[in-house]
Amino acid sequence: MENNPIYVTQPSLAPLEEYVDLLKGVWDRGILTHNGPLVQQLEKEISKKLGMENFIAVSNGTIAIQMAIKALELKGEIITTPFTWVATLSAIQWEGCVPVFCDIEPDTLSIDPLKIEEKITEKTVAIMPVHVFGNPCDVEAIEKIAKKHQLKVIYDAAHAIGSTYKNKSLLEYGDIAATSLHATKLLNTAEGGGCITTSSELNEKLKRIRFFGHNDAKNIVEEGFNGKLTEVHAALGIANLKYYDEVLQDRKDKYFFYKNALEKLPFLQFQTLKLGEPNYSYFPIIFDTEARLLEVESTLNKQKIYPRRYFYPAVNTLNNIVTYEPMPLAEDIAKRILCLPLYWNLKKVEMHLILDLISKKEYNRV
Ligand SMILES: *Cc1c(COP(=O)(O)O)cnc(C)c1O
Repeated sequence: MENNPIYVTQPSLAPLEEYVDLLKGVWDRGILTHNGPLVQQLEKEISKKLGMENFIAVSNGTIAIQMAIKALELKGEIITTPFTWVATLSAIQWEGCVPVFCDIEPDTLSIDPLKIEEKITEKTVAIMPVHVFGNPCDVEAIEKIAKKHQLKVIYDAAHAIGSTYKNKSLLEYGDIAATSLHATKLLNTAEGGGCITTSSELNEKLKRIRFFGHNDAKNIVEEGFNGKLTEVHAALGIANLKYYDEVLQDRKDKYFFYKNALEKLPFLQFQTLKLGEPNYSYFPIIFDTEARLLEVESTLNKQKIYPRRYFYPAVNTLNNIVTYEPMPLAEDIAKRILCLPLYWNLKKVEMHLILDLISKKEYNRV
């Protein structure tokens, strides 16, 4: 066992035969894309599983964010978090908008609602928070601010499939939520994503944008692009979705297994889960110092265990793509946070090994 590298994640995959069975249908029909029957089936099944009205399957999560910006016709400044994956930032910039960073709460790691209003200018058009590691943002406080200042809200909900707030899927909050079905996410289609909105008007518009701006009569009625998911990817999603409940429960079990073992270590902190029910899809640990993080990381690496510094660095520091503005809390957390391996195939013995390596006494002397 010690000889196999352990990465931060591995995709949850249905048995190959079940995927191949679905592919046979694709070959029989000869339909590979263009909103084919499997894409429609995947959309229905995801909506049903998460208890939502609409789920628009798209080619990836980054495109889902861009489609949300296009659908809301946003031009101007979008307030977002520096503690995210670079895709949040690049999607905003690719749509010709300007990201304005607002620092995070150092405990929940979410954008700090108390700091949003001071970032609003006459150019602000929207707020784009991220449900970091599937942990719900303060959706009610954010909605209040948005209403007061007539701003749109787009959630980067790439991590949030399976999270709920007030017993409703977290994906149904905001004007539009954009999620990801990437290989590393809880539910995957290899590459893929989704746009979710409770507005039927926006739902229709997003579908047109996904398909070059075509309406049902195949006239080009607006500026769209190609955001389509293929049948081959949808088949994988349908196959994987059958195991979704088990995967979700498994993450939760493993999350608490880690948490119970690590809680007693004086040099560690954890993301605070305050609101709603997260999906426990990641297990980040926050060290007291970056030096200790580096030491633990190197100890793990020596045993071919590769946790990931996620999110690192804070995206406001990427000064080749944005103008740097200090975000002290996000930058500090980004330096001290490490995501431990957490996935379906991860074995208990591997988790024990990881826990032992992290708990080694000599770290206390750092
Ligand atoms: C994965 C991820 C994305 C992008 O999703 P892709 O499907 O990989 O394009 C965006 N934001 C966050 C926070 C992510 O983790």
